[in-house]
Amino acid sequence: MVYWLGERLYLNVTNRCPNRCYFCIRNFAEGVGGFNLRLKKEPSVLEVIRALEEVINRRVWKEVVFCGFGEPTERLDCILEVSRWLKRYFRVPVRLDTNGQGCLLNEGRDVIRELREAGFDRVSVSLNAHDEETYNAICRPVLKNAYKGVIRFIEEAAGLFETEVTAVDIPQVDLTKVREIAESLGASFRKRRYYFPAL
Ligand code: SF4
Repeated sequence: MVYWLGERLYLNVTNRCPNRCYFCIRNFAEGVGGFNLRLKKEPSVLEVIRALEEVINRRVWKEVVFCGFGEPTERLDCILEVSRWLKRYFRVPVRLDTNGQGCLLNEGRDVIRELREAGFDRVSVSLNAHDEETYNAICRPVLKNAYKGVIRFIEEAAGLFETEVTAVDIPQVDLTKVREIAESLGASFRKRRYYFPAL
């Protein structure tokens, strides 16, 4: 559940996700960087902390990132608790990589404020589309009004966090428009490479 790429430490706490993106790495690979990210079962908070304790002092990590083979806010309470633990004992920045559906997945909760209070420093949101129609076609969300929910999430997050919007570089997506949306919502933009196993 804990893996690392360069100077960043990553936490993979779930394989669940309310999207079915056609470009999702899970469709093509078992993991990244030689780490298998298919979970046999979701780790408990204690198991995540124990795994972190094994590696956290190995070096000075640039960031700890909640990001894996699933949407971290599917396990909101787990990521909040692990972030609080990290912030209690270490000075490392904490980032959430998310599809931006945390508020839809956790209705009735003030998700963004809870993330902030638990110590998250940065949020990176995969918007992946310049409009709802494209989003529905390529990300195939299960939740209703997912695109609007992601936009709202970005807007709220940008008021509290250093917030980045990302999109995969695929032909269906107008990256210039996604950048414009990101900037209009107060976020920065980053293009992501499409992981295409045949190349
Ligand atoms: S939102 Fe992320 S984890 Fe979920 S299907 Fe899309 S690419 Fe995969």
